[in-house]
Amino acid sequence: MSKPHDFKVPASFTVGSISYRVCEVDKLKGNRLGLMCTILKKMWIARGPRVVVPVSETFWHEVTHAVLHDMHHPLWADEKFVTEFSKRLDQVITTAKFKEHDGPT
Ligand SMILES: [Zn+2]
Repeated sequence: MSKPHDFKVPASFTVGSISYRVCEVDKLKGNRLGLMCTILKKMWIARGPRVVVPVSETFWHEVTHAVLHDMHHPLWADEKFVTEFSKRLDQVITTAKFKEHDGPT
């Protein structure tokens, strides 16, 4: 699919009954890379500085929080679990390859 640096951050998405708006900002307090709020229904993604963690990984990290929150999962705010899960999710999404021509010819 796309390389991590080609990742286009969506403006919004829905998980369960919550539609999140996504804001890309230059930086976040405390040099955080991303942040989400289930009450404000908003997600913030910092554009930079990016040395190690690509924007795509941060986006999927925050999405993972949102999905687990919607599931009422006890690990929804567990940064270690969410980071490990979303790293692998980002890897799947950024390395997925599709056949050139699918379906009947
Ligand atoms: Zn987090």
